[in-house]
Amino acid sequence: MLNEESSGDGKEPPSSSTLESLKQFRSAGRGFWKHVSESDWHDWRWQLKNRVVSLPQLERLMPSLTPEEHAGTLLANTKLAVAITPYFFNLIDGADEHCPIRRQVIPRIEETHVARWEMNDPCGEDAHSPVPGLVHRYPDRVLFLVTDRCAAYCRYCTRSRLVSNASGYDFHPEFAKQIDYIRKTTSIRDVLLSGGDPLLFSDDKLDHLLTELRSIPHVEFLRIGTRIPIFLPQRITPALCAMLKKHHPLFVSIHSNHPRELTTEVREGLARLADAGIPLGNQSVLLRHVNDSVTVMKAHVHKLLMCRVKPYYIYQCDLISGSAHLRSSVRQGLKIMESLRGHTTGYAVPQFVIDAPGGGGKVPVNPEYFLSHNADRVVIRNFEGKVFEYPEAADGTPLIQRPAEIEEPALV
Ligand code: SF4
Repeated sequence: MLNEESSGDGKEPPSSSTLESLKQFRSAGRGFWKHVSESDWHDWRWQLKNRVVSLPQLERLMPSLTPEEHAGTLLANTKLAVAITPYFFNLIDGADEHCPIRRQVIPRIEETHVARWEMNDPCGEDAHSPVPGLVHRYPDRVLFLVTDRCAAYCRYCTRSRLVSNASGYDFHPEFAKQIDYIRKTTSIRDVLLSGGDPLLFSDDKLDHLLTELRSIPHVEFLRIGTRIPIFLPQRITPALCAMLKKHHPLFVSIHSNHPRELTTEVREGLARLADAGIPLGNQSVLLRHVNDSVTVMKAHVHKLLMCRVKPYYIYQCDLISGSAHLRSSVRQGLKIMESLRGHTTGYAVPQFVIDAPGGGGKVPVNPEYFLSHNADRVVIRNFEGKVFEYPEAADGTPLIQRPAEIEEPALV
């Protein structure tokens, strides 16, 4: 039966798991790889070398592959490659066609259906790239795309034109031009390393890059955007954390979408990063029948806090080509936000945003708590729907005039 919390279309019921069961930390286990030695299993390079990357592998490991998934996988490498680490593969429930982990990494034929508003570069990054691999969209910060590789590939990826290089995107792995631009542009005080996934670099290579950036006097702040702690927690080694610690202030934004991704292995890796003094935030993408339910999202944000990670953003899924089957509604996102604000710890409440199509940047989207504002007062409502009045300081011109035709809400 369709859960009333979901934005579903009635065909694919969301999980009926309870809040408490979703909040349990469990190990991903060894699954199909019980024969592998302990040292290999915990070796991130072994995990990368042994990723599930082909249809025959998928068919062998998951006999329940549906016709839609089979057809999607056959075509996937013409667009965005398939790759799933053995560790992450073990989180898939092979018996559940609607498994929220499965929906994120197993291709489906719907990826080939392109809606008229979908784009290959929905955030307009290429148009804001003064040099290849560097996006300068906001005044004081840049996005530095340091690699086109990821540990696994998300089927809704905004940068699927770039990552896995399936479409022959002209990626430039030498960093001289990008570093030079950052050095010459003194307004840049914040550099976000992303890609692809920067934590796929060796410790030495990443250390070199961070050292170069740290040598630029106007760069105050460094960030790394990564899904590695979720796809490949084995990569979060003590040596990596010791190296990152040299480059403070350094923040790490992880990308996790569902509470089941937060395993005991992930919790341990995140603890190592937090113990290295790295502030951690999480970005989730709102995905249909993955996390577009109040229960799932609440369990997720609670678990993130238990992992010492601040839920930072929930993104409305970008209009990337072939992602309509994974896109939930803005309406459902607002409903989830409404269920969090005031109902749970403020630190657990992320900001819901839409990345404005074509390169407009992130726009915060909030349930309406601010009802009216004039020279004398503001009218607000709280999380319980009660309406309150707050007197405005007498400092001049009204900011917003309520149009006469809009009725003023009743005060309690
Ligand atoms: S990890 Fe990030 S960049 Fe890589 S495929 Fe997933 S969303 Fe795209």
